[in-house]
Amino acid sequence: MATCTDQHRYWVFFEQLPDDQGGIGRHKCCGCAYEKGYRAGIIHGEILNINLDSLHESQAGTVRHKSPHATYAQGYLDGVKASYR
Ligand SMILES: [Zn+2]
Repeated sequence: MATCTDQHRYWVFFEQLPDDQGGIGRHKCCGCAYEKGYRAGIIHGEILNINLDSLHESQAGTVRHKSPHATYAQGYLDGVKASYR
């Protein structure tokens, strides 16, 4: 999978989310995971699939070693919240 070059790798709020110190998620781009979750949330998607293999790789910025599961879930929640505004 390609390496992510998106600016979301540097979003500061990722710093408060859990680290993933092992496993397949460790080197995935959590910015991509967040945005995928957000897109699912804003349309109230009911079948959620993180599909780690679909995410770009990244070891840069604030997403480094963060949990893609946690960032996907945060993105989903933020998307649902945004849908009610
Ligand atoms: Zn990304």
